[in-house]
Amino acid sequence: MKDFAVVGSGIGGSSIAALLSAKGFDVVLFEKEAYLGGCSSSFSHKGHIYNTGATTLAGYETKGIVKDVFDTIGLVPEMIQTDPAIVVVHNTKVTPRFCDFEKFFAYLDANYPHEKNREFWTLIYEIDAAFYKVQGYYYSNASFFSKLKSLTSFLPLCVKFQKYLRKSAAAFIQNFFTEISEEYIQFMESQILIVSQAGLREINFFTAALSLGYTFHDTYYVRGGMSTLFDAIVKNVHEVHRNAEILSIEKHNSHYSLHTKQGVFEAKKIILNSTVYESAKLFASDEVKNYYKKYEKLDNYQSSFMLYMTIKSEKDFFHHYQLIEKEQIKYTLSNAVFVSFSDKDDIKIAPQGHYSITASIHTDSRFWEDKAKYKSQKKELESFLFNTITAILKIEKESVITYFSATPKTFKRYINRSQLGGNAVTMKNFLPFLPANDTPLKGLYNVGDSVYAAQGWSGVMLGVKNLDRLLDA
Ligand SMILES: Cc1cc2nc3c(=O)[nH]c(=O)nc-3n(C[C@H](O)[C@H](O)[C@H](O)COP(=O)(O)OP(=O)(O)OC[C@H]3O[C@@H](n4cnc5c(N)ncnc54)[C@H](O)[C@@H]3O)c2cc1C
Repeated sequence: MKDFAVVGSGIGGSSIAALLSAKGFDVVLFEKEAYLGGCSSSFSHKGHIYNTGATTLAGYETKGIVKDVFDTIGLVPEMIQTDPAIVVVHNTKVTPRFCDFEKFFAYLDANYPHEKNREFWTLIYEIDAAFYKVQGYYYSNASFFSKLKSLTSFLPLCVKFQKYLRKSAAAFIQNFFTEISEEYIQFMESQILIVSQAGLREINFFTAALSLGYTFHDTYYVRGGMSTLFDAIVKNVHEVHRNAEILSIEKHNSHYSLHTKQGVFEAKKIILNSTVYESAKLFASDEVKNYYKKYEKLDNYQSSFMLYMTIKSEKDFFHHYQLIEKEQIKYTLSNAVFVSFSDKDDIKIAPQGHYSITASIHTDSRFWEDKAKYKSQKKELESFLFNTITAILKIEKESVITYFSATPKTFKRYINRSQLGGNAVTMKNFLPFLPANDTPLKGLYNVGDSVYAAQGWSGVMLGVKNLDRLLDA
């Protein structure tokens, strides 16, 4: 019998499997797909490789949470630092989000002039820097007392930042600037959405500040496509089963049985990297079903529409762009599309002279449920994004070798989830309402972006570290 069975090889599943293996535990990891990484994977389509969703990696700077985990498992990733992290193209304005404050600020202030700009962006910078200095958070749901204990671990943070926690980001920003243009608000809101997964009215100013501060950190491009990084992360995990979907799980008194098409596996403890909205259906036990049921309401149906493209071009492109349109784009939840280019010299992902492009925009999975309209709607949005991206970034149509799109249904088919981006940390959905990495059920744990702490490399890794500590306790 295995010590741990991990279901899913996303950032959460792969990293905790690697950390436990490094401690000497016998771990088995199951992934439904042939490639590892889930939302952060890469895949091959008609001979071309693409990143599936995530394209940027933050948290690898000194004392960063991702670096801490990679160092512990002895992994030195093949990555290139990207600076600017993102180039924001908004009407005629181009604002590179340089890591260096002054370098970024010069563009910001020229494009969105305001007498309070320096004071505002200094505050963002300072909140962000102070947050990453406060350590020792702990979040558990195992019992009433562990929940209480965890809340006290957040007290220093709540005390330090309380004035930014109480007010919505929209109200705080309006108050701060008194008069601020709609365009400037759009510039901020588009960047906040891709980090916090929620709009200005739903989040407090503290979350908004951390989202706007994201690009003051070192950000990285992963060579060869994101899945190559996952192959390296799980290198020392005892058993990794690809193309192995867990179809059902039985809970026994002291262990769990996991059923796959290939056979039944047994483990003392299980860690689910499936989302809390999808995990209940793996179990017949009412006790487990009821635990997950209370989190169903957190599913906000937020998802992504993707456009993948391969082009042959000698032009130079930045790694990442955010293109902000004037109006909200039809069938989506946003007016901004995020476009990532492979590195010019990364011939593992695209041959010399070619670029692999991954573009994404927020949508609602319910927009894609009407079977009669699905195909035409997909084609319409695909064409709109294709024309917008090629026009704004001046990509000649002749240089495009191939392009295709994916909807929330595609994500569901491949990685078993259509809600993407996990739990947005909104004012309504703050601690202690967030699901934790442990549960009151013996031997059952969760990891990933639908449980503590948040989404993306840094957010999920905070949960991985939290789980690692809970398992040690
Ligand atoms: C379009 C898009 C762009 C993004 N961009 C960025 C970015 O640039 N930078 C960033 O840091 N973050 C980004 N994110 C967020 C980030 O990708 C996710 O938060 C993160 O990858 C989620 O990791 P996870 O651990 O929750 O696992 P997931 O990615 O959800 O992976 C879970 C895995 O479990 C597998 N699985 C599920 N059920 C089963 C089962 N029953 N049996 C076996 N396997 C199963 C799935 O196939 C999947 O591989 C982006 C997300 C999206 C959707």
